[in-house]
Amino acid sequence: MDNTTNKSSALFARAQQSIPGGVNSPVRAFRSVGGTPVFMQRASGAYMYDADNKRYIDYINSWGPMLLGHAYGPVVAAIQERAAYSTSYGAPTELEIEMAELIVSMAPNVDMVRMVSSGTEACMSALRLARGFTGRNKFIKFEGCYHGHADAFLVKAGSGLATFNIQTVPGVTAGASMDTLTAPYNDLEAVEQLVNDNQGAIAAIIIEPVAGNMGCIVPVPGFMEGLRSICDREGILLIFDEVMTGFRLAAGGAQERLGIRADLVTYGKVIGGGMPVGAFGGRRDIMQHIAPLGNVYQAGTLSGNPIAMIAGYTMLKTLQDNPGIYTQLDQTTEKLHAGLADALAIAGRPFVINRFGSMISVHFSDKPVTNFTDAATADNALFNRFFHAMLDKGIYLPPSAYETWFVSTALSDEDISETIAAAREWAGAL
Ligand SMILES: *Cc1c(COP(=O)(O)O)cnc(C)c1O
Repeated sequence: MDNTTNKSSALFARAQQSIPGGVNSPVRAFRSVGGTPVFMQRASGAYMYDADNKRYIDYINSWGPMLLGHAYGPVVAAIQERAAYSTSYGAPTELEIEMAELIVSMAPNVDMVRMVSSGTEACMSALRLARGFTGRNKFIKFEGCYHGHADAFLVKAGSGLATFNIQTVPGVTAGASMDTLTAPYNDLEAVEQLVNDNQGAIAAIIIEPVAGNMGCIVPVPGFMEGLRSICDREGILLIFDEVMTGFRLAAGGAQERLGIRADLVTYGKVIGGGMPVGAFGGRRDIMQHIAPLGNVYQAGTLSGNPIAMIAGYTMLKTLQDNPGIYTQLDQTTEKLHAGLADALAIAGRPFVINRFGSMISVHFSDKPVTNFTDAATADNALFNRFFHAMLDKGIYLPPSAYETWFVSTALSDEDISETIAAAREWAGAL
């Protein structure tokens, strides 16, 4: 199953001597799909080029941030210009205010926002804040949802862990996860049950409003509305983890697309335009509990870093000024969806394509995929063969059936046609 080039194989062998597993984030190692990861040297627009200069049409887009394609000119120029003014001060800047004001103007129900350096930090901090604000300890998360790698979230946490079939995580103590309650995605009754069994003890319900860490999974009608009304009834904070969906599904993210109000929202990925950035925000009365205003502690030496801020600001401003980008993303993804559905049908194997906006994924399943169990019982071995065939043909899909694909505006009609043709060729030969 080694489809990769000599340079990537050599680099992977070398990497494993000094980096655990040869990678700095587990899914990159291709363990689930087998074979050798492809080492990249550069990217531009819709294309990445590996160490041997082979070109790939990219459907990962750095797991989301490259919404406008790689090396987007204005973002690159802004980073270059700012770098000359020093790369960090450890003191406040006007740029941070501009970034906060921009986020507040785009994101519904966000009165105040604090910048951090990753989605993990954003979710970890939002949960701490929810606990501090409500004075309660427990929280509900959904099976297959990923909220970063903070201890309390590493329970039934989708993608990376599902890819490696990690059930319990060594190093996470029972104490750290005993307040984590889990329910199946899209199962409102299970949530009602947990709430009844833990009256007055639940601080928050955290959810990916469109899930992307078990493939793409869409909330069924009424589910989010139900969560909102349970939270209102019980004094529980609803946290939308919009690390994937924020600024991707719409300028106002999933809150805007689904028409559901969250109490706290976490952001990452797109918000940094490719730099390491995250953020959490929400209602003013909740956010005022954070230090130095309140006593819920949260901090970061490089938080609000000027290079990260100018990259993120330039990205978000482009999105705010060009709402047509979202129409374009939706149309491109629709085209991909329709073409893939036609192409894969040739194989005569059951499959399901889930899509919401510019998030899309393929599960080889004979029934609808609406939760983690559905995703896990699909024919993921067949997905792995599909992945490698596509990779050979220069189409770079996420290396796991538990990941959503991310579409960018850089993809042309020709790129989509080439992708569909590759899928058709694979399906025809199966
Ligand atoms: C990627 C992701 C995170 C974690 O973000 P990092 O920047 O990788 O720490 C959290 N939540 C969701 C929904 C994600 O997709």
